Amino acid sequence: MKRLTSCQPNEEDLKLDVTLRPQNFKEFVGQSKIVNNLKIYITAARKRQEALDHLLFSGLPGLGKTTLANLVAQELKTDLKSTSGPVMEKPADLAGILSNLKKGDVLFIDEIHRIPTVVEEYLYSAMEDYTINIIIDQGPHARSITINIPRFTLIGATTREGLLTSALRSRFGIVEKLDLYDWPALVKIIERSARILGVKIEPPAAEILARCGRGTPRVVNRMLKRIRDLAQLKSDNVINEKIAREGLQMLGIDEVGLDEMDRKILQTIIAQGDGPVGLKTIAISVGEEENTIEEVYEPYLIKCCFLKKTPRGREATRAAHEHLQAKTPPAHNQKNIFK
Ligand code: ADP
Repeated sequence: MKRLTSCQPNEEDLKLDVTLRPQNFKEFVGQSKIVNNLKIYITAARKRQEALDHLLFSGLPGLGKTTLANLVAQELKTDLKSTSGPVMEKPADLAGILSNLKKGDVLFIDEIHRIPTVVEEYLYSAMEDYTINIIIDQGPHARSITINIPRFTLIGATTREGLLTSALRSRFGIVEKLDLYDWPALVKIIERSARILGVKIEPPAAEILARCGRGTPRVVNRMLKRIRDLAQLKSDNVINEKIAREGLQMLGIDEVGLDEMDRKILQTIIAQGDGPVGLKTIAISVGEEENTIEEVYEPYLIKCCFLKKTPRGREATRAAHEHLQAKTPPAHNQKNIFK
């Protein structure tokens, strides 16, 4: 079974994302400062009949970057073309996408920090001058041609803003950083998702799930989907407090939202005298990629004050000790849950 916190959504997750994706700014919960800013930028750009400035969204996986990109395109009443950094292997891939854009279109590049350097360099002139220079032919016949691209808006999304080159970052006129959601916002998201998924959820149950939701809409939505199955079998399609708690235990999630991988990470550090332990060592011990540990697990462990990043490595805090001693569910409860 796939972990709720996993940052690489599989096909089923993507379907769920699409089903539950807010259809307009009204349905988009929280991040009010960003939403208000966007509304102003969009209204102004539409009044001027110009393309919106290039926009960068940064934030942890599942916080709503793709959703916002879709909403921006919708509000601008333009088409959204989507791609992602690692998919564009060579300049020709980018040239192909850019030459198919229409005036005012939005091009969404997910994981823009993973765009190869050779492609990134071509993006600069596309973003700045709306042109792209490509070399055709080879050897003595090689020549450069300039293609004009219609004025478009690039929306980049990144989970690792720090990995962006300053040359690329500086070409975005608008940069917005998405924060983790507080639990009342997650309650609203859960209630809306429950309505769409056709399951009833009682307020105390919604609060329990929200408090374990790691501040992340995608995590609460996946949780809800799994617990819905339990409600269907056991409580006439109603998620009450008992079903919520039973579901969380089934998923190996404790009351602050830590899952088995979070606990493994902390236990690895604690086993080494509370650290400091290098990221590589942790990754090998827990069998997870370094990137995923940094992008998905550590931010939440740091937010909970269970983990500290120091120049010499990761350290576990006293709070982590206390939490693990008091809260770790017995190992037999977690068997097979994360396979
Ligand atoms: P990201 O691109 O940052 O990884 P997504 O935009 O794909 O995240 O969001 C994941 C899912 O979480 C979406 O399908 C949507 O259902 C839900 N979601 C994200 N942000 C919100 C929000 N502010 N309000 C309601 N649902 C949200």
